[in-house]
Amino acid sequence: MTNASTAPNEIATRARFRPPAVPQIDLGGFWGDRVDAVAARTADILYERCVAARMLEQIDPDRPSPGVVIPFHSMSPTGNEFTGATVTTQMFWDSDWGKTIETAAYSLYRRRNPELEKKIDAVIDMYEKLQQPDGYLSSWYQRIQPGLRWTNLRDCHELYCAGHLIEGAVAYYQATGKRKLLDILCRYADHIGDTFGPEPGKKRGYCGHEEIELALVKLGRVTGSQKYLDLAKFFIDERGQEPHYFDQEARARGADPKNFHFRTYEYNQSHKPVREQDKVVGHAVRAMYLYSGMADVATEYGDDTLRVALDRLWDDLTQKNLYLTGGLGPSAANEGFTADYDLPNDTAYAETCAAVALVFWASRMLGMGPNARYADVMEQALYNGSISGLSLDGSRFFYENPLESRGRHHRWIWHRCPCCPPNIGRMVASVGSYFYGQSEDAIAVHLYGDNRGRFEVAGGKVTLTQESRYPWDGAIAIAVETEAPLHFKLYLRIPGWCRKASLSVNGEPVDLSAASENGYARLDRLWKSGDTVKLDLQMEARRIYANPNVRQDLGRVALARGPMLYCVEEVDNRGDLSALALPADTALKTLDEPGVLGGIVSLSATGEAELADDWNGGLYRSTPPRRTSADLKAVPYFAWDNREPGEMLVWLRESKG
Ligand SMILES: [Zn+2]
Repeated sequence: MTNASTAPNEIATRARFRPPAVPQIDLGGFWGDRVDAVAARTADILYERCVAARMLEQIDPDRPSPGVVIPFHSMSPTGNEFTGATVTTQMFWDSDWGKTIETAAYSLYRRRNPELEKKIDAVIDMYEKLQQPDGYLSSWYQRIQPGLRWTNLRDCHELYCAGHLIEGAVAYYQATGKRKLLDILCRYADHIGDTFGPEPGKKRGYCGHEEIELALVKLGRVTGSQKYLDLAKFFIDERGQEPHYFDQEARARGADPKNFHFRTYEYNQSHKPVREQDKVVGHAVRAMYLYSGMADVATEYGDDTLRVALDRLWDDLTQKNLYLTGGLGPSAANEGFTADYDLPNDTAYAETCAAVALVFWASRMLGMGPNARYADVMEQALYNGSISGLSLDGSRFFYENPLESRGRHHRWIWHRCPCCPPNIGRMVASVGSYFYGQSEDAIAVHLYGDNRGRFEVAGGKVTLTQESRYPWDGAIAIAVETEAPLHFKLYLRIPGWCRKASLSVNGEPVDLSAASENGYARLDRLWKSGDTVKLDLQMEARRIYANPNVRQDLGRVALARGPMLYCVEEVDNRGDLSALALPADTALKTLDEPGVLGGIVSLSATGEAELADDWNGGLYRSTPPRRTSADLKAVPYFAWDNREPGEMLVWLRESKG
């Protein structure tokens, strides 16, 4: 997470690395526990909470429509547009179903759950009944606001909902082999393709909330149908072109385009064509989903103009606008970006969905070839700002992920806008697919930890078995099995946080400086069963400092070890964490704690605390406060708020010592 930034991939070196399907990877260790929590609890909870929110009533044509359950909130305190189609989160309940289906599907790989499968089958039957003869499918526009379809793409999430249903359909097909939902969504995607496109008579629109783009790429890959990829590319190419579609669309429904609550089209990244964009702006999740779709299209079409734009955006995000947790989007007002280096800790919005979506984007940048520039950030967001959104037992959820809490920030059972719970659920349940990338003649290992992966590469079958206590220990052994000796390239990521790494194959040391390519060690050889790769990543506690332009972190230090960022919690430390300081020369100790928070490595040090006990009720005085030494203990950030509630702090004051 404090790596020197690696250069982007050379334009000329084009490869397509695709993620393995979820069932190709069996996870153990740290991620096995996380996936088990989702499969055992979260997947069922998501379904039950959707039902409790009355979402089944909305999609079931055999029941009366629930009507408007969540009131319209005028997004406009200043009296901006209200056309009968302003936003309520109920409009995107189809997306909550899509992600809930996706979480259930991926969870079924891990753990058979016939009852949940039956419930999901019933949901799918409802969608089948609901679908109109022309293929259109939106529970909101069919059941709550009929007659208004495709009239407000800017605000109403219509194509976004389609995208999430597509992702759910692809996952459910892959998990169960059942095609019904996939066929429903192919019909809907065909209808969307008949409605939108560059041809005369079609609408040249795109969604205000990106998502359909990356979903159509998934649909194209699973069906082998080029038309879905072409439609994804159309939505990306069209975005931000003039005359602006959202202007035209507003006028068509009798509204003034200027009366857009968020004022600027930066909010939904349609302020200019995507290839001209050079700053991450607006709503953070929308931005990440857009860039994910752009990366997919860049990979599928070998489109270097998109790749260049993506790398500019990547630099802007990672050099000026990213929390150390891999969280992003500091502001609640636009759920997104503000100004460069504006990264407040206690008020950080840093929505769980945004960090999840950064994992999506980073993983798709790896489609263009292994490169630690992207994989390091994927790992940073994975281990920290995304999974902090899910309690250890898989039952509670953060929406916001601040880096400092006075003790009042806790996980929710559910949320009025329940986008985050199924988003973190589906990401964790499918995390195996982020571990690797595979091309025709290569396998890239992006992430480490206990797992077994099965691949087809270079015309043969390969099984890789990783044994490692990662992320708590940097020793990794990879056993290779092949049916017959097989020539392929194996790329192993050397994380940017690692100061010293060593690598051997069958006991023979490998010269890492000679084998290194874009932050990966490249092993190009004839592999045979019994070959063993050993990678040792020195993993020590380290201090991290922020660029002085981040005013909130001035004079402060954060602690990390391997991919894990640490925080101090009140339960482990004396109260009032802001009175604590860590002397600059204090040694950091590591301790294996198998019984704490599901098994962690904690960090501890002798720190200092300023005392208020001799102030006799005074508020100010001319002598500085008394200091005492104080034991200081830090735990991984993702696991905070799983014990007694209390204060939490990532960036500690650093004293001279
Ligand atoms: Zn969310």
